[in-house]
Amino acid sequence: MASFPPGGGVPSPETSGAADFFHAQRAGFGDTIARFRDRPDLLDRVWTQAFSSFERNVEGETQGLPQLACHKGCGTCCQLQVVATTPEVLMVARYVRAMAGGFRRVGVDLDGRLAEAGPADAPAHPMALGRPCPFLAEGLCVIYPVRPMACRGHASFDKEACVAALCGGQEDVPVSGPHRAVRGLVQSALQAALHEAGLAWGVYDLAGGVRLALACADGEAAFRAGADVLAPAAADGAMRAEMGAAFGQLGAIARPDR
Ligand code: SF4
Repeated sequence: MASFPPGGGVPSPETSGAADFFHAQRAGFGDTIARFRDRPDLLDRVWTQAFSSFERNVEGETQGLPQLACHKGCGTCCQLQVVATTPEVLMVARYVRAMAGGFRRVGVDLDGRLAEAGPADAPAHPMALGRPCPFLAEGLCVIYPVRPMACRGHASFDKEACVAALCGGQEDVPVSGPHRAVRGLVQSALQAALHEAGLAWGVYDLAGGVRLALACADGEAAFRAGADVLAPAAADGAMRAEMGAAFGQLGAIARPDR
C-alpha cells in the first residue's frame, strides 16, 4: 500500500503525494470490500486496514518532529465531539459488548453514560464541547484499543494550550499536522470506497452511533447488506450531499467504462 514519499515533510492534501496516497488507499479499501463483502469478517478487515495504515504512515511522517504532549491517561481533549465512520463505530460497539461485564465490575456504567450523552450538538469551540466523552472514566479512555481515528489524529505538542482551549481561551493549540493529514486522508479514502460499494459511508457522532449499534440486533450484518443503521446519529449534515457528489465523480473517473 502506498505511503507518503519519505522525507517529504508535512503531508498536505494539496500535494500530489497526498493525492496519490488517497487514491491508493481508496483502491485498497475497495479491493478489501469487494473480497470480503459477504463475509462476517468484513468489519475486521476494513478496520484493521484503516488503523494499520494510519499508524504506519503517521510513524513515517513524524520522524524528527518534537515529542507529543499526548500520553495514555491524559483526557484533556476528551471533551471534543468525536465523529467516526460506520466501521469504527461498529468496532467500538463490538468491544463494548465484549467488555460489558468487566466495565460493570470496575463500576463503569457505560449504558448509563451513553444514555446520558446523546448526539452532541455542534460546540461553540471545537475544543470545548463542555462535557466529557462517555468513554472517559477516571481520566482513562475505556475503549482505548478501538478508539476512533478522530481521537488518534488529534495529537498536541502542548498540554497547557489544550487546557487553555478547553477553558475557552487559547484557540491555536499546536497539533501535529501529519497526524491530522493522515487521519483525514485515510478516513476520506475509506469513506470513498464505502460509498462506491453502496455501503454506509458517512460520519456519525460516536456516542450516539454506539448507542444505536448496541440497540441493533445485528448491526454488522445490516451494514454488510447496505443499511445505514447509524443514520439518526449522522454528524456530517450539509457536507453529506457535497461529499457524496465528490465521491461519485471519483468513482466515475476510476471506472470510465461503466
Ligand atoms: S473515545 Fe477515548 S480517546 Fe476518544 S474522546 Fe472518548 S475517551 Fe477520549
